[in-house]
Amino acid sequence: MNDQQLLRYSRHILLPEIGIEGQERLRAASALIVGAGGLGCPAALYLAASGFGKLTLADPDKVDLTNLQRQILYGTKSVGAPKVDEARAALAAFNPEVAVTALQKKLDEKALLDLVGKVDVVLDCSDNFATRHAVNRACVQHHKPLVSGAAIRFDAQLMVFDLRKPEAPCYGCLFPEDGEIEEVACSTMGVFAPLTGVVGAMQAMEAIKLIAGIGESAARLQVFDAKSAEWRSVKMGKDPACKVCRP
Ligand SMILES: [Zn+2]
Repeated sequence: MNDQQLLRYSRHILLPEIGIEGQERLRAASALIVGAGGLGCPAALYLAASGFGKLTLADPDKVDLTNLQRQILYGTKSVGAPKVDEARAALAAFNPEVAVTALQKKLDEKALLDLVGKVDVVLDCSDNFATRHAVNRACVQHHKPLVSGAAIRFDAQLMVFDLRKPEAPCYGCLFPEDGEIEEVACSTMGVFAPLTGVVGAMQAMEAIKLIAGIGESAARLQVFDAKSAEWRSVKMGKDPACKVCRP
């Protein structure tokens, strides 16, 4: 790192858990962020500001006026433009040292497999079960850590599936692909704006912890109720009958 970089990241470097070595690891690391919405915006912002080396952002959508209440990388002038392009420009202004690849598309199975194989950590910031399951399958196949987040109304969830470890559950162990889970259409539901910031920032935090090797990952399902400001954590084990991750 040069002098400017040492200064930029000095408050990280001062943390013995990170130091110069951890910061170098972040600089060498790459993350795939699936979804550039309420969760993806703050997650990408914190990863970029923190000095993550490479970010790949995937989202097929354009910025809509209804997004601006919580998708903090976009401003009024962004409306109508592809989200990933606006996000890349905003992130470059925050930290030009971070290489951001913008993919304006819905990643299919093959594209996901290809991309997940090339990154160190995956952040699922999507808003539907089909994508979540496809991301999970790719992470299981490549043994890549998956940081999963969700926020709707006043409720949020977060969990890290560290699929580098054979004993770790996968997303499908918790939410089976053929399970009877009612899909909540995020486009029609209310979302408490700061809650998406809380979860997206936590996803960035867990991704940084994984890369720098800090502490313990959120390997239990974290459930947050914004109205009561209460966190609960639930231990979730591997499902031996899981169709995705059983050997
Ligand atoms: Zn599983």
